[in-house]
Amino acid sequence: MKKNTKIVLSVLGGVVVVAIVVIVGIKILNRPAIEFKNSAEKVEIKGNYNAVDYIKDVHGHDIADIEIDDSAVNIEKLGTYVIKYKINDKEYELQLEVVDTQAPTFDIENLDIDLGMNVKAEDLVKNIKDQTNTTVRFKEDYSFEKAGETNVTVVVEDEAGNQTEKEAIVKIVKDEEKPVLTGLHDFTVSKNGKIDYLSGIKAKDNRDPEPKVTVDSQQVNTAKVGTYEVKYTVTDRSGNKNSYTKTVAVVENKPTSSIGQNGNKVVYLTFDDGPSSNTAKILKVLDQYNAKATFFVTGNGQKYNYLIKEAHNKGHTIGLHTYTHSYSKVYASVNAYFDDLDKIGQMVKGQIGFVPKYIRFPGGASNTVSRKYCKGIMSTLTKEVQARGYQYYDWNASTGDASGNNVAVSKLIKEGTASKANNIMILAHDTAAKSTTVEALPKIIEHYQALGYQFKAIDDNTFTPHQHVNN
Ligand code: ZN
Repeated sequence: MKKNTKIVLSVLGGVVVVAIVVIVGIKILNRPAIEFKNSAEKVEIKGNYNAVDYIKDVHGHDIADIEIDDSAVNIEKLGTYVIKYKINDKEYELQLEVVDTQAPTFDIENLDIDLGMNVKAEDLVKNIKDQTNTTVRFKEDYSFEKAGETNVTVVVEDEAGNQTEKEAIVKIVKDEEKPVLTGLHDFTVSKNGKIDYLSGIKAKDNRDPEPKVTVDSQQVNTAKVGTYEVKYTVTDRSGNKNSYTKTVAVVENKPTSSIGQNGNKVVYLTFDDGPSSNTAKILKVLDQYNAKATFFVTGNGQKYNYLIKEAHNKGHTIGLHTYTHSYSKVYASVNAYFDDLDKIGQMVKGQIGFVPKYIRFPGGASNTVSRKYCKGIMSTLTKEVQARGYQYYDWNASTGDASGNNVAVSKLIKEGTASKANNIMILAHDTAAKSTTVEALPKIIEHYQALGYQFKAIDDNTFTPHQHVNN
């Protein structure tokens, strides 16, 4: 090789080395200060993300020096957003796509409906869970125009287009059975009184859980004494209907006045809560002593209702004590009380042919337990029953049998013979659990008869012991 050639090669080699050094150096100097893991990122909607996590490396700086601005990102909304990373006045951008890759979940229910009703896919679907809004539809156009079962597929789709399908059965039944109303009754109301036509009335249907009830009371004029008709119509969701007519008797307000004691020696034995398994025994004792008494009855012992008639036929007085004897029910409202009173009145009417006007409040007029259910109700009821032509009777003596079941006979006799009033109204009970009351009865009657008292049943001339009203 020639000397010149060698020199040329050496110079060339040097130039190449320098060039490589220069190129690499420029590359290092020019490379971005922030290097990302990927050119773009994705994150699940409403998921967790941290903009720092997308950085792979930082050159010539500390990662803490980067200013990150991700204010444009809305993690709750599908879309593509830009995160800005700033370092030394240089800005880098990274695209972040908020995605939804999770298909919706939901529960499916078979549908059992009546022919003619609208079928919506939504009616078969419950508890949809997804991070975005969803739509519900049938997969195909199904026909629901005939009775029978149809297999359907329901599709729930989210905003991102993820779909979940589930199958169900739509059962269509032709309903021809009419709904019925229970608890209907005639009304008696004082002039200008109020009537709650729907109170206590229940609608029932074989298919429709909530049949519609309408009341036509246009005819009723509570401002005018008379008898009117009120019409009830109950309609189920298939349009099957039933109608009923009840009467409303509007009566004059005839306040019943209270009567004080008179000079005659009279005992009014009163038995509450019957009839019961003890009623026949009580009647027998009363017969033995030729004593008359009063029974304030309830609807809780209807097995013995024939004894109401028997007692009435024997000359005893039947009074009303409420149908249910449930404080929470009868003292829930004035209307509730009169609805109940109406019911027991009708029950007794079924036995003796008329509605008695003598009543006794559960717990007496002085009870305070009613305050728990309706404040002030006793003040209203004590006046209102009289305005409606009833009279209520508390008591001025007691056997003490309200204090418990099967109270000792001696104790009942002692308490039951303690009064020295001219007119004595004794509170006693007629229930299965108060057999000792029956046992104490002869001695109580003998005691007062020996003192010249007569045992009478309540009538229009009986004194009206009214206790102090406390509610
Ligand atoms: Zn009672």
